Amino acid sequence: MKDLQKLLEEFSSCPGPPGGEEPVASLIRKHLKVQCQIQRDGLGSLIAVKQGSRKEPRIMLTAHMDEVGFMLQNITKDGYLRLQPLGGWIASHLPGQRLVVHGSKGSVEGIVAAIPPHFAKEHQSETKIEDLLLDVGAGSKEEVASLGLHLGDLITPVSHFAVYNKQFFANKAWDDRVGCAVLVAAMRRLKQHPNTAVAAATVQEEVGSRGAVTAVEVAKPQVAIVLEGPPADDLPGISKDSPQGALGKGCQIRLYDPSTIIHRRFWQWVAELAQAKKIAHQLAVRQSGATDARAIHLARGGIPTVVLGVPVRHAHSHSGLINVEDVKATLDLTLAILQKLDNKIRKSLMPK
Ligand SMILES: [Zn+2]
Repeated sequence: MKDLQKLLEEFSSCPGPPGGEEPVASLIRKHLKVQCQIQRDGLGSLIAVKQGSRKEPRIMLTAHMDEVGFMLQNITKDGYLRLQPLGGWIASHLPGQRLVVHGSKGSVEGIVAAIPPHFAKEHQSETKIEDLLLDVGAGSKEEVASLGLHLGDLITPVSHFAVYNKQFFANKAWDDRVGCAVLVAAMRRLKQHPNTAVAAATVQEEVGSRGAVTAVEVAKPQVAIVLEGPPADDLPGISKDSPQGALGKGCQIRLYDPSTIIHRRFWQWVAELAQAKKIAHQLAVRQSGATDARAIHLARGGIPTVVLGVPVRHAHSHSGLINVEDVKATLDLTLAILQKLDNKIRKSLMPK
């Protein structure tokens, strides 16, 4: 438990917006270099291979390294920074929050400008991301440049790790650093498996699964497991029916989202395995969202793919919340799949 908590803290604290995932890739390499053969692809995804007692099937275990962030889009003449979002943000969540710009002279923190109530117009129009300004305490373009900040610099939220009520963990970037932590823990613990496990930590998922498109060509999988940090729906007002991604209810097995109809035989086999091993799980038919499965299941002639997730409350904002029991359930289920899935089972999943 202490090991898992440390891993979760380390991964969620690490900065890695789309196109700037190197700090996360270094962490994964540090944890897997002894156990696995490591390769990179041309866009930056990291592929770590561990062969078991059989070469086949090749099982791709994947999590994306990037978190939602921004790029420095422009600098106003009075020294404020404009933000290009990388991934899905809601503009009204941002005023008053701190962001850190990763500049050429190191990290520079700023506050997203918030109009105080004293100056707010009565019917202030809705906040738009293109109108937001980051205040780094500079008074001109020249002062911004002297801080080492330039167009194209990458920007991430300022947050910190905390434990709430023993089993809830708060921090930024749970989508998908919780997946990265499960991926690392599973590969490290994996022993005696009748297959080749290929961990692929992908780049640029939040801007449309671009890393998964290239990583799958290097990983060459026959089946795939996507590890995600999907948004929880157990807040009042989100779902009118019972939640399908509730904290503390176990690993979420996704059956559908608009990008992917999950391979029916494969998810049913996974759900039966969870049942047999008494691993807490919840099924979800998602009406929105997408994962790297959208690219993976369409590659190389069609790859049976499942999506397992640890629900994240307040996802795609400065601070999210997960339940460590869901992380354990997802890790247990991932390991159970990897230990059991041999070529005979893989063939039984394929259409006749
Ligand atoms: Zn994600």
